[in-house]
Order: sequence, then structure tokens, then C-alpha cells
Amino acid sequence: MRRLRNIKIVATLGPASSDYETIRALFDAGADVFRLNMSHGEHADIAERHAQIRRVEEETGRPVGILADLQGPKLRVGTFASGAEELEIGQAFRLDLDDAEGDVTRVQLPHKEIFEALEPGSTLLINDGKIRLKVTACGADFADCEVIVGGTISARKGVNVPDVVLPLAALSEKDRRDLEYVCDLGVDWLALSFVQRPEDVTEARELVKGRAAIMSKIEKPAAVTRFDDILAVSDGIMVARGDLGVELPVQNVPPIQKRLVRRCRAVAKPVIVATQMLESMIESPMPTRAEVSDVAAAIYEGADAVMLSAESAAGAYPVEAVTTMDNVAREVESDTTYRAVIDASRGGLRETTADAIVSAAREIAETTDISVICCFSQSGTTARLIARERPRVPIIAMTHLLSAARRLSLTWGLHCVMTGPLERFKQAVVNAARAARVDGFASEDDQIVVMAGVPFNVPGSTNILRIAPCQERLIFATDPE
Ligand code: PGA
Ligand code: MN
Repeated sequence: MRRLRNIKIVATLGPASSDYETIRALFDAGADVFRLNMSHGEHADIAERHAQIRRVEEETGRPVGILADLQGPKLRVGTFASGAEELEIGQAFRLDLDDAEGDVTRVQLPHKEIFEALEPGSTLLINDGKIRLKVTACGADFADCEVIVGGTISARKGVNVPDVVLPLAALSEKDRRDLEYVCDLGVDWLALSFVQRPEDVTEARELVKGRAAIMSKIEKPAAVTRFDDILAVSDGIMVARGDLGVELPVQNVPPIQKRLVRRCRAVAKPVIVATQMLESMIESPMPTRAEVSDVAAAIYEGADAVMLSAESAAGAYPVEAVTTMDNVAREVESDTTYRAVIDASRGGLRETTADAIVSAAREIAETTDISVICCFSQSGTTARLIARERPRVPIIAMTHLLSAARRLSLTWGLHCVMTGPLERFKQAVVNAARAARVDGFASEDDQIVVMAGVPFNVPGSTNILRIAPCQERLIFATDPE
């Protein structure tokens, strides 16, 4: 079983996609990684979805990634006596710490730290940015605001404070509980919401203790400003365009997306483009032309993955949404302009033996008749480096660690295959040739490139590159020990 595209698809699970049949159908349609959103659902729901994903993995024999997404310090207002109120432009509205139900003049904002960080002139955005407030006066337990853009406000609506670095702990109490829960359950990636500083990531890493790779969601202006430092301590990045487009003017999002994708590609860390990719498919079996263009743009940028949120979690057409992404990816990736764009945007320094050898592998595969590049990678580093090359030929990443295979399922172009521990290089070549044939990447008459590090099982030691026949008889006849 192989995918006929390089970019990966992440599908968020939710009420519309919780049973085995639907999750299996999402996988068959093209989902490579499943996202469990900790903002919704009880632990029991999460455990159930997790079990179904692992069952899909077992029944298909393909490593599948699981990404658990922590809610993060999301600010919310309190409740209203009337349920909801209509805020009019120009009126005064107060936020305070009083837990009495709100009315048209005030509501609780139960986050003490926020009031300390606000200043007259600060902007507060409520309900996905639909309501805009400007602080006119504030104290330790209140903020008086003027309504700049009005609208309906109701219980527990989210609040964004774009222009202030909030003195908030990166992980709330709920996040800490969720983190322990999903790490115990066994997830491959853990996504952190509303990251503001690199310390937020290192703090989470201390709690995770290697049980999952860590993805930073870029959805705060502060995270954009400190992006390089955050990238340096993260294993992967999500361009979280939903909150990013609330915290910053929406027209800032596309240039930021382009820049972040390039930076991630340069350092060979996976990057997901997320949110509203096929938003209209929540209700319609057909996407808009603009949405198809948006998915295509992420593919032309060379992102590692595109993501579905409500489309697959709560929409009426979850499988159709995955199929749409798969169709767009296959079409775009076979376009000659795509190849030209990808080749022109290959970045990053080449300074180590591993960098040089993966670059050579791409050159060889593209100038001679090679069906597939097979690389043996223990930690996954070499596999990510060859993926960074964005070669024209497919890549098989062979590893004996299931956890590595699952994490790598998020990386552009990697088809991960489990292998036993290796003792001899010849054995590596035989295993690679077999995987290439069995999964439909090569036939007996083809040639493959095999990369490995000898001695085996030392991370980051790739030092052999072999052009090998795909037939066992020929391998035995031609290969050194
Ligand atoms: P969310 O994150 O779906 O958890 O809010 C993604 C985003 O903000 O784009
Ligand atoms: Mn978000």
C-alpha cells in the first residue's frame, strides 16, 4: 500500500469521525496522521479514538501518526444572565474578576494575570475576533473598554489579546493533566497551543520526557517574532492560521505561512499548514475554488502536511474532504511548474556528511534510472534530511523503531517501513529491495538507491550510498558483505 503523493494529510477526529469504519475510511482516502483535539471531548472519547487508530494501523500494516493537540492557555469570558448580549459600537463594556453573571455593561474575565498586562489602548478580541474592544482604563481587577466592533457575546467565548505578551503559564492545569494522559496513552506528536516563547516549549519537553515529539503551534504575534528561537527547540511546527488570523490582520497570514514553511524546510523539521483549508466542506460535498487554491498553494510551498479540522471532525463530508486534498495533491505534484518551484526553493545549509550523502542520493536518483531511495534511519534524522531534498523519486524510510516510523509519517514524501535490526549491509539492501517491490515502488528489473550507516544502529551515522539491483539473486551476486 502506497500513497501517490508526497505531502501528508492530517485529519482531526471528532463526533463525525469516531467509529472504526469512518477512521478506516479516512485512512483509505489518504489520512496519514490523525489529530486528537484536547479542547473537545472527554478523556474516554480520546482513548476510544486512539484505540481505533491503532486498530487501523494493525489491520493495514502501515505506521500511522497520532497528534494530540493541547488546548493551551485559551482565555474565555464568563457567563451571561440572559445567555447572550448584543454589544453596540461605541458603547462602554467592562471586563472584571467578579464571578456574577454578566449583562450588557460587563462580564467576568477570570484571568487575573491579564489585567496586569493590559494597558490603555490595548485591543481585546472576542469570539474569533468578531468583537473588538479597546481598553480605555484598567486596574488590577478590571478593564474598561470601548466597543470598536460590536456583535453578539455569549458564555465562554474565547478572548484574544494580540498585542500583549501574556504572563501566562504555557500549560494550564488542564493541559498538564491532558499531557500526562495522552503521553501515557501513547501519542507520537504533542502540539502546544498559543506558544509565546521558546521557554514554553522547553517547559513542556521536561514533562513529556521523550514520550512524544513536540510541535509548536504558531498562533500568537509573539511566536512569529521569536519564531527562529521557537523552531530551534521544537520538533515540528503548525501554522495555526485560525488564531493567527484573529491575532494579526488576516492579510499578514499568507506571507507568514510562506516564511515559516521555508524556515522549517531549511532545517528539516516538519511543518503543517492548518485551519479552514476546506472550510465549506463542513456543509458541502464540493469545496470552493478558493479553498482548492489554498490547499494547492501549501503544496507548491513544499509544506510537509495539510490539515483538516472541523471538516473531518464535525462536518458532514469528512471522507470527501480527505479525498479532495488527495486529489489536489496528486494533480499539483505532477505539474511541471510544481517541480520547478520546489527545486528553486530548496534551502538550508549542507555542512555534515549526512547532508552531503542525502544530496548525492537525490542527484543520483534524478540523473540515473532509479525507482526509489531507501534509507535506514534509526532516530529518523537521515530520513528527514533526505525528505528535505524534496527529490523527484519516492523515499522509503526503514526503521526498527515503530515510534520513529509513526513520527515520520508526518514528513513530506516518507513511506515508512518497519525492519528488523540489521547486522550486515547486504541484509539492508535485501530488506530495502523487498520493501520496494512489495509496496509497489519497484519491480525486479529496477534499480534502487540504498543508504545506511555502518556500524548499524548508531544514530546519524549514514555513510554508505549504494546503487543496487532490486532482485535478490543480483544483490547476492554483486554486493560486498
Ligand atoms: P485550534 O488551532 O484549532 O486548536 O484553534 C489551530 C488554529 O488556531 O489554526
Ligand atoms: Mn488555535
